Amino acid sequence: MGLNDFSNIDRVLEELALKDEYRFNAYQVASLSNEIDVDSVNEYLLYKTHPKFGILEAKIETICPENHPDKHFDFGEALPDGEVECRICDESYTLNPYNSHIVFYFKDKYKKEVKKKALKSSKKLLVPI
Ligand SMILES: [Zn+2]
Repeated sequence: MGLNDFSNIDRVLEELALKDEYRFNAYQVASLSNEIDVDSVNEYLLYKTHPKFGILEAKIETICPENHPDKHFDFGEALPDGEVECRICDESYTLNPYNSHIVFYFKDKYKKEVKKKALKSSKKLLVPI
């Protein structure tokens, strides 16, 4: 992996979870954390989908020729051969690496933990010195 410091990315993930973002990709996280190496960010996010962290879930999202975010498949699952129909515009298209990309979702447990943590630190601020 090309990145040495992932604390920026971890911070961005917490912010996204606090804002209730439910779907995002490596490009968004890279730009929010000022990382230019999108591939490394993607690798790191994939690493965080490991069940032992319980943070993220990866899905393959397909984009129809009209640019609609269309279908979702589990990451690692084989994509169907042949044509699929866009759920929004009914356009038929064939899936390939150019119209399918990885998107990430937060696990509910992680969102809850982040919110609990944020609540605790905001309470700390209210304690008189
Ligand atoms: Zn469409």
